[in-house]
Amino acid sequence: MSNGYEKTRRRMVDEQLIPRGIDDQAVLEAMATVPRHLFVEEALQPQAYGDFPLPIGEGQTISQPYIVALMTQLLKLSPGQRVLEIGTGCGYQAAILAAMGAQVYTVERIKSLLARARRTFDRLHFFNILSKADDGTEGWPEHAPFDRIIVTAGGPRIPRPLVEQLADPGILVIPVGDRDLQELTVVSKENGEVESRVAERVRFVKLLGAHGWQHE
Ligand code: SAH
Repeated sequence: MSNGYEKTRRRMVDEQLIPRGIDDQAVLEAMATVPRHLFVEEALQPQAYGDFPLPIGEGQTISQPYIVALMTQLLKLSPGQRVLEIGTGCGYQAAILAAMGAQVYTVERIKSLLARARRTFDRLHFFNILSKADDGTEGWPEHAPFDRIIVTAGGPRIPRPLVEQLADPGILVIPVGDRDLQELTVVSKENGEVESRVAERVRFVKLLGAHGWQHE
């Protein structure tokens, strides 16, 4: 993938990710490779590698690079694993997972965002991403169980269908909390037992749906 921003990406990895403790080489490699600027509108491309989230339309945002890297690292992903993502947005997080060799299933409730993300996947030849427009708090039962589940919007609680659709062993990462501030929560399922722990305080857009917030 040659597209003119290689050095900027490398600097993002060296200055924003490694100093904050991202040390999973596969995550760093994906972050250094996937062209983040192609997931935002043209006018914002020069800012795409900045240390902040950016608007992607419809009142939604693409997360700060560090948060994408942190959530990905918390998943402890191996190539070939099946990953469900809730909140496709611009598709950047899904592309990072796909670049790491995952079989990605991603769900987005806003049709126009999903349509744009799909065009970007095609353009960048990500063929290991299956997507649909729907309420992702219901999961994607037809393709369950998933080795990993990542929710990139913040909900009031952990949606029960997602825990049910998580494989054993499996890991689910989701921001949980109130509307303004959430705790990035890591749920692990192993030998039939489900445990959760908090990794970091974060600020995400709202997870809206049957098992999320009911209103904007
Ligand atoms: N992973 C995205 C982040 C986008 S922001 C990226 O890399 O750009 C979170 C997204 O979650 C928004 O696009 C929002 O529309 C979507 N979302 C919120 N509630 C949802 C739900 N119940 N199902 C699917 N997507 C949802």
